Amino acid sequence: MSADCIFCKIIKGDIPSKKIYEDDEVIAFNDIHPLAPVHFLVIPKEHIESLASCEPRHQALLGKMLLLAPKLAKEQGLKGFRSMINTGVEGGQEVFHIHVHAFGGGDTLPKT
Ligand code: AMP
Ligand code: ZN
Repeated sequence: MSADCIFCKIIKGDIPSKKIYEDDEVIAFNDIHPLAPVHFLVIPKEHIESLASCEPRHQALLGKMLLLAPKLAKEQGLKGFRSMINTGVEGGQEVFHIHVHAFGGGDTLPKT
């Protein structure tokens, strides 16, 4: 838990979110500025800054987050989606609590 982390505050319930999944290790909620009709974030409850701060002990947790994305995407009615993990300022990361973006719906997403 990090006192000034916005996602830790969402986990604690101090900041509201549109939660779509929660268990003892992870939560998923809708992104406040969606890039597509459906856009949610999967985050661990443990405060880990980024993919670059992950350690071998996080392997199962990372796998769990990745496996959750298609399950939730399907539940949200998506046939396909894009997943993204921004890492570091130069990787476009703005919130320094690791998160997997999953978004899609509407038109086919442009090729990267
Ligand atoms: P990133 O640039 O990968 O760090 O992405 C951070 C994401 O968090 C952005 O897509 C923001 O729209 C999203 N975000 C920031 N604050 C909130 C919030 N309070 N609730 C939901 N999503 C948020
Ligand atoms: Zn945090």
